[in-house]
Amino acid sequence: MRAVQYLEVGRAPEVVEVPVPEPGPGELLLRVTAAGVCHSDLAVMGMPAEVLPFPLPLTLGHEGAGVVEAVGPGVESVSAGEAVLVYGPWGCGVCRECSLGLENYCARADELGIRPPGLGRPGALADYMLVDDARHVVPLGDLDPVQAVPLTDAGLTPYHVIRRSAERLYPGSTAVVIGVGGLGHVAVQLLRAVTGARVVALDVREESLELAKRVGAHHVLRSDEAAVEGVRELTGGAGAQAVFDFVGAQPTVELGARMLAKDADLDIVGIGGGALPVGFGSVPYGTSVRVTYWGGRSELLELVDLARQGAVGVHVERYPLERGPEVYERMKAGRIQGRAVVVP
Ligand code: NAD
Ligand code: ZN
Ligand code: ZN
Repeated sequence: MRAVQYLEVGRAPEVVEVPVPEPGPGELLLRVTAAGVCHSDLAVMGMPAEVLPFPLPLTLGHEGAGVVEAVGPGVESVSAGEAVLVYGPWGCGVCRECSLGLENYCARADELGIRPPGLGRPGALADYMLVDDARHVVPLGDLDPVQAVPLTDAGLTPYHVIRRSAERLYPGSTAVVIGVGGLGHVAVQLLRAVTGARVVALDVREESLELAKRVGAHHVLRSDEAAVEGVRELTGGAGAQAVFDFVGAQPTVELGARMLAKDADLDIVGIGGGALPVGFGSVPYGTSVRVTYWGGRSELLELVDLARQGAVGVHVERYPLERGPEVYERMKAGRIQGRAVVVP
C-alpha cells in the first residue's frame, strides 16, 4: 500500500510502498477514507534527532477516518464495513484520566511508550491504518469522511479548550481567536455554537480573516500591536473574557495577555514556542493561563453530534494521497485555507 512517510530528520516526507498491516489481537484495520493534515507535523519535522520522541520512518497523519476492513481476535464491539473516525490521543485505558475519557492526559502513556497514530505509531496518510483498540474509534454514520475527519483534531482540540473556558463566556462576553487556520476556523464556529460570546478573530493573512468572517466571527482584526487597542475599543475598555491562541508564538502569547479582561482565561493551544512570565501584577487579577493538548473521547462524540446538527462545518481543501508531501510544503508557505484533507 502507499503511505506518506517521514523517513529521515530534515528530509521532506515522501510517498513510499509498505506492506498492508495485519490487525493483531484487539486491533482494527481501517481502509482509510480521509486523513487531515495538521500544522503540528511541521513542528515535529522541525525537531532535531535528539529530541524527536519516536523512531523513523513514520507514516504521518493523526486525523483519520476509515471503513473497518478487518478486526483482530477478540474485537466484538465494531465490525467490518463500519465507517468510523479515529480518536487519536491514545492512552492506557485504565488510569483515572483515561477512565474519564481524557486519554489525552493519560498518566501512563509516556511510561508505557503509548503514542498516537501519526505521532509515533503509523498514521492515517496511507491506504490502510491500524487502530490499537475499538474504544479509539467513533461511529461516523452517514457523515462525509472528508468533511468530518478534521473534527478529530482541528475540531476536538478547540472544542476541549472552549468547554474549559465556557463558564467565562456568558452572553455579552468577548472571546478572541488568534490564528484562523485549521483549528481556529473551527474554534470560531464552536464559540458561536456553544457560547454566548462575541467572537473577535485575529490573523496575519487576509484570506484567513475572510474565512473567519465567513464562518461567523463578529469582528476581525490584523494580528499586530493595534489589535490590543482594537479589542479594548470593542469591549468598552474591559478586554476579552477568553483569548484562544492557536499560534502560540512569542508575539501572540504576549498580544493575548494584553487583551485580557480581569477574571479571564488565556488558553494557549498553538505550539509556536512562545512563553509568558506570569506573576502577581504582570497580568490582570483573576487571570488563568491554560495549556491544553487535544481532547477527550466523549468530547469527540459530542462534536460529531454538533457536526450532524450542522452547527460546525470544516472548510476543506482536498488532495490525492500522492500530493501529501506537497500539502506540507503548501502549509509551510501559508497556502492552505481551513484544513487540507488527503484522500487515498
Ligand atoms: P494552520 O497552519 O492551519 O493555521 C495557522 C494560522 O495561524 C494561519 O491562518 C496563519 O495565518 C495564522 N498565523 C500565523 N502567525 C500568526 C500570528 N502571528 N498572529 C495571528 N495569526 C497567525 O495551523 P493549525 O493546524 O490550525 O494549528 C494551529 C496551531 O495549533 C499549531 O501550532 C499546531 O501545532 C497547534 N496544535 C496544537 C494542538 C494541541 O493539542 N495543543 C493540537 C493541534 C494543533
Ligand atoms: Zn494535530
Ligand atoms: Zn491512562
